[in-house]
Amino acid sequence: MTQNNVIVGFMETTQTGASHPSQQEWAQQLRLNGRRVTKQRLAVLDAVEAMPHATADDTVRQVRQVLPKISVQSVYVVLADLTTIGMVSKFEPPGSPARYETRTGDNHHHAYCINCGMIEDVACAVGDTPCLTPSEDHGMKLLSAEVVYRGICPQCQEDMTNGTTAK
Ligand SMILES: [Zn+2]
Ligand SMILES: [Zn+2]
Repeated sequence: MTQNNVIVGFMETTQTGASHPSQQEWAQQLRLNGRRVTKQRLAVLDAVEAMPHATADDTVRQVRQVLPKISVQSVYVVLADLTTIGMVSKFEPPGSPARYETRTGDNHHHAYCINCGMIEDVACAVGDTPCLTPSEDHGMKLLSAEVVYRGICPQCQEDMTNGTTAK
């Protein structure tokens, strides 16, 4: 959890605008998926990378810092397409809008604070996909299992013990 914050902070300080270290890699991945490398796609990837677990609306706001004229619809379309080709993964916390992240393919799960909505990554519980072994697979070849850990984050726990009014 803390580790993740450190990485994000590090990236922000080393970001020099146009030359994001991952952009070349992303361009390559886009081509491998038969997509053209456009500044819209790169800007959306950049935004999602900078703000893991952001909503589509948060992503629009972030992308507009680079491409002020991009429409909400365009960002949604790009996000959906990047999700389809697996460069972005989508996570839907209970009762809250979908979140997006560039951490894909590692079958990780999420811990969700029921009080403030904070989301943290949790490594795959068993160590490989589909992670859980259900008693019945109904003849399906199971690819993945998504676990949502619902809880109360440390900050909210502290607020509750201190009697502060929870948000
Ligand atoms: Zn919380
Ligand atoms: Zn995540």
